Amino acid sequence: MDLHDFGRVMALEEDGLMAFFQDHGLLRRQLHCTTCSRQYSTIKWKKATVVHYVLRCPSCRTKKKLTTDTMFEGAHLHMRKLLALIYLWAYNICVGTATTM
Ligand SMILES: [Zn+2]
Repeated sequence: MDLHDFGRVMALEEDGLMAFFQDHGLLRRQLHCTTCSRQYSTIKWKKATVVHYVLRCPSCRTKKKLTTDTMFEGAHLHMRKLLALIYLWAYNICVGTATTM
């Protein structure tokens, strides 16, 4: 991903950025409820931290984070900040340089 692509992804709206993360296997897209045997639905949830969506079972209404069983489980930064950190790390750009960009 070059700087142009990075800028394009960072400019995406929340749902577009979520789709980017899901397309790259960084967030869950689906989950199966072990209680009801139904597929979870994706719903908006402002209280969620990494992404403002959660997965919810349509029957028992159990909610699961999209970060469940991913490398971001337990993270509290928004996915936009996580993507920036990953990009800077991948290109070996130190924090001091990044703050002046
Ligand atoms: Zn359920």
